[in-house]
Amino acid sequence: MGTYCEVISDDPRAAKIAFSEIKRLEKLLNRFDPNSEVGQLNRLGKLKVSGDTLKVIKKSRLAFNKSSGAFDITVAPSVEVWRQAKQNNKLPDARAIRTARDLINSQNLLIDENNRIVSFVKPKMQIDLGGIAKGYAVDCAIKKLQEAGVKSALVNLGGNMYALGSRAGKSWKIGIRHPRQKRKLMGEIFLTDRGVSTSGDYEQYFTLQGRRYSHIINPKTGSPVDNEVVSVTVLAPDAATADFLSTAILVLGKAKGRKLAESFPNTQAVIISRDDL
Ligand code: ADP
Ligand code: MG
Repeated sequence: MGTYCEVISDDPRAAKIAFSEIKRLEKLLNRFDPNSEVGQLNRLGKLKVSGDTLKVIKKSRLAFNKSSGAFDITVAPSVEVWRQAKQNNKLPDARAIRTARDLINSQNLLIDENNRIVSFVKPKMQIDLGGIAKGYAVDCAIKKLQEAGVKSALVNLGGNMYALGSRAGKSWKIGIRHPRQKRKLMGEIFLTDRGVSTSGDYEQYFTLQGRRYSHIINPKTGSPVDNEVVSVTVLAPDAATADFLSTAILVLGKAKGRKLAESFPNTQAVIISRDDL
């Protein structure tokens, strides 16, 4: 999934169980693997998918609906336009941005639940599960750990985490990094049986002609988000929800983002904006 994975547990079996489950999901969900289900769907425009892929896509649709379209997995064509811009070190032209943007709309993503068939209404549409798949994979890894009888573990997949049980009788402690100073912490949070995810403009961004660009796309413009928010940490009952919410809040900004987090049960967001630094 293009990132690191860390598993902390007293149970010596934990890392192996978690890694193999995450690898299994990567094979289904990675858009850069032409043989993955997402790779095939993006190529064919229609595919019968596994239960896991269906679940992630259904959760993405919920994220789309609840976030008024701020979270939209059909951003893939725009992600691609800006990825190429980064590669060529050249801003995309307005037409390429518009063409890709006009393909974004999860309402054109059809889900036939009974037959597990997912299809695109428009040709050239594509999906990118980068804003939710890591959280979902963490949740699946935790489920596998629980099934194996593991009572306590922290699984961290590139900043998307779940803290299972407690550590030596205490909550798991997680630091929130300062978005501009590598070694400094903004604060600490304590977790038991909860998901947490951080999305920021500092880990993945690129610079073009002296300007900083985020890897998160505003679906309305088809261009990287550009607002006051520099980092979002979301605590939620599961890691997939924390993952998509952290991405959605970066798109929506502080006020709307906070409202969105509040509309989910047992969910909190720590939103750091430029003025807070
Ligand atoms: P990270 O991948 O750094 O953990 P996120 O969880 O915030 O960060 O996800 C960002 C990824 O989500 C992007 O790399 C892209 O694949 C995808 N993405 C970008 N913009 C959106 C969006 N508006 N809605 C859904 N997914 C997006
Ligand atoms: Mg995310």
